[in-house]
Amino acid sequence: MLPFSDIHTHIPDRPGSILSVPAERVGVVVAANGSRPSDEQQYYSIELHPWHLHEGSIAQFRMVVEQYRDDPHFVAIGECGLDGLCTTPIHLQLEAFRAALRSAHSCRKPVIIHCVRLWSEVIAEARPFMRPTQADGEPPQPFIIHGFRKGPQLARQLLNAGFSISLGAHHHPEIPVVVPAHRLYHETDEE
Ligand SMILES: [Zn+2]
Repeated sequence: MLPFSDIHTHIPDRPGSILSVPAERVGVVVAANGSRPSDEQQYYSIELHPWHLHEGSIAQFRMVVEQYRDDPHFVAIGECGLDGLCTTPIHLQLEAFRAALRSAHSCRKPVIIHCVRLWSEVIAEARPFMRPTQADGEPPQPFIIHGFRKGPQLARQLLNAGFSISLGAHHHPEIPVVVPAHRLYHETDEE
């Protein structure tokens, strides 16, 4: 279980948050942390967002993850994932998502996942990278579907497939009942 009250935001300096940062901006966040008192330092995830892929973004992502993998403020990979409504070609989205999953596996970091429509594809791609649940039922490295707005049926399917779920301000009212507390997260995202 990640000890953050806001596991995904794009807005810096929110208390208890993980800031989602594109690879090209990680250096700025790390440098800023170096000049702040420890209780004001920003935890972050490195994103490879399906909306913003361009030539070279996968290589840059890999390089930056390697560079900072031992930074204690680098706590997750993402957001990354698949989006059935965006204009990025699906082959490029798949290539990027796989790269993100491989990096997360190699540095044993949780994954924050963006998914629009392509649920069975996300489940199938992520499965080979998931480590078995521990004896206490806790996923050793949570795979978190962020900004979940769908209903209980899909939530149960995702839980059975090993995912955790993160809710923003707008979500189905039954989800907090359906999802066990140790698999449930909250986020502010762009709000
Ligand atoms: Zn986001």
